[in-house]
Amino acid sequence: MFEALSEKLKKTLKTLRGESKLTEAHINAAMTDIRIALLEADVNYGVVKQFVERVREKALGQEVWQALSPAQQVVKIVFDEMVELLGGGAASDLAFTSQTPNVILMVGLQGSGKTTSTGKLARFLAQQRKRHPLLVSVDVYRPAARDQLSVIGKAIGIPVYEDPTTDDPFKLARAAYREAQLRGFDTLLVDTAGRLHIDDELMVELAQLKAELHPVETLFVADAMIGQDAVRSATEFHERIGLTGVILSKMDGDARGGAALSIRSMTGQPIKFVGVGEKYDALEPFYPDRIAQRILGMGDVLSLIEKVQQEVDEAEALRLQQRMLENRFTLEDYRAQLRQVGKLGSLDKLLGMLPDGLLPGLNLRLTPQQTQMMQRKLKETEAIINSMTKQEREDHTLLAASASRRRRVARGSGTSVRQVEELLKEFSIMRRMMQQMTRGGLFGGLGGLFG
Ligand code: GDP
Repeated sequence: MFEALSEKLKKTLKTLRGESKLTEAHINAAMTDIRIALLEADVNYGVVKQFVERVREKALGQEVWQALSPAQQVVKIVFDEMVELLGGGAASDLAFTSQTPNVILMVGLQGSGKTTSTGKLARFLAQQRKRHPLLVSVDVYRPAARDQLSVIGKAIGIPVYEDPTTDDPFKLARAAYREAQLRGFDTLLVDTAGRLHIDDELMVELAQLKAELHPVETLFVADAMIGQDAVRSATEFHERIGLTGVILSKMDGDARGGAALSIRSMTGQPIKFVGVGEKYDALEPFYPDRIAQRILGMGDVLSLIEKVQQEVDEAEALRLQQRMLENRFTLEDYRAQLRQVGKLGSLDKLLGMLPDGLLPGLNLRLTPQQTQMMQRKLKETEAIINSMTKQEREDHTLLAASASRRRRVARGSGTSVRQVEELLKEFSIMRRMMQQMTRGGLFGGLGGLFG
């Protein structure tokens, strides 16, 4: 699932990466591509429209954040909006209360995976949440339905309440509830009847069951494979009986992803679990941020972007860049810049995960030894600059012109004259590079440090 969508979005965002400056035209072109990709993935038209509009607005109005390229910022905006679309950051848990038993009503159309999901959820709750579930099927219309749940119950080792003498769904539900109370089951999962299509009779029955059982959760099982049809059914179920969440089944199939991306926005209800296979352990809590990362395929980059945003002093980076552009960059500024880079030292693991070409001009495939060397060099360089007089820091040619000044600085900083001379050489090269620099950004000017 999501492969085709993921490929297209990655391609679109990649075309932006080459740009050092994003114009409105770039953003509009990218938004057109994103819109097509989402529509092709069978995402609801209205949802796509809103999504693209929000991304466009944010991308156009984004603050100038020089430490990141504009393209990286667009990636971040698309990611943030996608997480929102999928329901926000963390997985939504089930709303258990101290009442016993807590009832979970499982609803959905026939064939959606409702009975299988009931079993999977019971198993998940028993194993991961230390609950004691009892199962009951109130699907009295298809003879095989109740048998199917019994078979699943045996397979997963979870008891199923059965009474073949009655065909009344309400009687069955009430009896199962009493049984749970008497025998100390804290959770009752009720597998309700499904139909091929939504009909009034079914809706009335489900609404009545809900009114009687006061479930803590009413979960709609949606088949991801049927895309927009699943979204339409979910919406109607929600309007008629009120849902508290969705289990999206068959996410392991080759569905295009439209249901997953539309259902939250269309129903206002979160996807709580996803089914990822026919086996009974193939159920996972739904994490919007992880799914968005999977779709955009750039999880590590996003962590990096967040860290850079946290750690780099943006005002300082801008000031330094301005000095570079004006060709007034001094050793004093260089020291300030090194301090910024020093903060990035803790990012070395993340930096190593970056795809090639994301930060232009910078080879970030550092080995641990290289990272150590880099950090040592940063410290030595700072020590050398610290040992200079203010005058020398403002005008590096003073040192270039005087061997005795260089000796004094080496002694003061505990380094060698050669190291001082190397630093001066590097600094001159850097100033020359800055004049030729075409790309903006904090990273643009730092190539010399890592090369
Ligand atoms: P119900 O009629 O809604 O109760 O649907 P069932 O639980 O009987 O499931 C219908 C079919 O979908 C069965 O063959 C299940 O094995 C299959 N199924 C259910 N969930 C999943 C899933 O997450 N992945 C896959 N691949 N198949 C599933």
